[in-house]
Amino acid sequence: MELIPNGRPSIEDEDVTAVSMVLQSGWLTTGPKVKEFEEEFATYVGSKYAVAVSSGTAALELALTALDLPKEAEVITTPFTFVATSNAILYNSLKPVFVDIEPTTFNIDADKIISALTPRTRAILYVDYAGQPCNFSRLREIATEKNLLLIEDASHALGAEYRGKKVGSLAHLTTFSFHPVKNITTGEGGMITTNDESMYKKLLLLRNHGLDKSDQRFGGEWSYDLKLLGRNYRLTDFQCALGLSQLHRLAAMNRKRAEIARRYIRELSAVPEITFPKISTDGVHAWHLCVLLLNNIDRNLFYKELKLQGVQGNVHYIPIYKFEYYQKLGLCDPTAFPVTEDIFQKIITLPLYPDLTEKEVDYILQTVKETITKLKKSGERTKL
Ligand SMILES: *Cc1c(COP(=O)(O)O)cnc(C)c1O
Repeated sequence: MELIPNGRPSIEDEDVTAVSMVLQSGWLTTGPKVKEFEEEFATYVGSKYAVAVSSGTAALELALTALDLPKEAEVITTPFTFVATSNAILYNSLKPVFVDIEPTTFNIDADKIISALTPRTRAILYVDYAGQPCNFSRLREIATEKNLLLIEDASHALGAEYRGKKVGSLAHLTTFSFHPVKNITTGEGGMITTNDESMYKKLLLLRNHGLDKSDQRFGGEWSYDLKLLGRNYRLTDFQCALGLSQLHRLAAMNRKRAEIARRYIRELSAVPEITFPKISTDGVHAWHLCVLLLNNIDRNLFYKELKLQGVQGNVHYIPIYKFEYYQKLGLCDPTAFPVTEDIFQKIITLPLYPDLTEKEVDYILQTVKETITKLKKSGERTKL
């Protein structure tokens, strides 16, 4: 049996056709598909503006650059995320300040943010872990009271909702990723959404070197000026065509993700060694990941055994303060995150993507249950 991967893009004929048409059109970048994707995306999430960029990491970097924070300003964030979240803070010469997570949702613990604030704190960069929106009303309360900006890393959360509003319309700036394992893909790619026109204009400059020029095919002239030091973080037209065609199937793909996740939860919740994170009733989960905690079962042995049986697990995430680079920076006391540490020891991510078949899900469920039984027995033997 072939290994069942942990995540996988869903590519249909209509995606291939959409990309081919742009390739044959002769306009590969800075063209009409970029605008079309941005406009549809903004409409979908309910924001005024959207800016397409070359990756989710580029989106995070530019979102922070656009805020123009003073050097050495501090940005509160979670350690339980992909490194790109806090790397983007470092790219901007800002200081990440990690705050422990909630034991129930694994999202940043808003109540612990208060004690991490200093006079230099300027922003909170939070992540909707696994696709479940953070407690936005609490975060907004803190932000308003302490005069902080909110940036949402919604790389997991395209399609998610909080109290009836789509993620992407809530924070000052929201970033998305279109990496192949995410809810939609453009190969590599990302998006920033905002309702703030001045942010929007700055982001357009920042992703195109800082040049105030439009393509000559859009009526632009040969002359231009450099307004600020930007990057080339543009997304190509054929990637935007893929993004558009994926966006049209997002609802159906997220429905499939949710169905599979609900089945995992339904059929594994009775296993005493397994706990799932709490699913809030405040919103709609985008189900980028389905994770569970193993109690009294060695996670690393469980991972190995699953792989031997043809099921690829994963660990989301190694806490950022554990990485050598971050330890050398001496940014934080690695013992200050008891919840993150505990969750990290126990967590495993099951395969989840729209094209998983019912038979594969059956097989994964059976393998998980059998592996628990097997490891429980060997655990009992070593205790004797
Ligand atoms: C995927 C991801 C990113 C980075 O996105 P890329 O498109 O791979 O650059 C950032 N943050 C989180 C939480 C992610 O999952």
